[in-house]
Amino acid sequence: MSDCLFCKIVEKKIPARIVHEDADTVAFEDVNPQAPTHVLVVPRKHVATMMDLGPDDDALVGKLFRAGAAIAKARGIDGPGYRVVMNHNRDAGQSVFHIHLHVMGGRRMGWPPG
Ligand code: AMP
Repeated sequence: MSDCLFCKIVEKKIPARIVHEDADTVAFEDVNPQAPTHVLVVPRKHVATMMDLGPDDDALVGKLFRAGAAIAKARGIDGPGYRVVMNHNRDAGQSVFHIHLHVMGGRRMGWPPG
């Protein structure tokens, strides 16, 4: 999608610190990290929100989570623990409308989240 920030990162039209790429997903460092590890995992395919996922995307969702798990393992946060977040729409604070998993770890997380 031409005016989507994360599509532009996927297409390497704007720079990002990419930490993982495969046929279906790209992961990069969040520009405003909220934890020592804060990586965003996105599908190459443009999907605006979780509500826009269809049955054809079931495998893609699994790939996003498996990429997140691989990143957590590579960072050594799988043992101590980490958090995966997907914000949806205004009340959750979604600001980029291309679905993404926030993979955050390296510190103790509070609950409930703010
Ligand atoms: P959300 O608010 O859940 O939609 O998350 C969007 C995330 O994208 C925020 O954590 C931002 O810090 C992050 N972000 C915005 N622009 C960039 C960028 N150019 N590169 C990396 N992360 C970004």
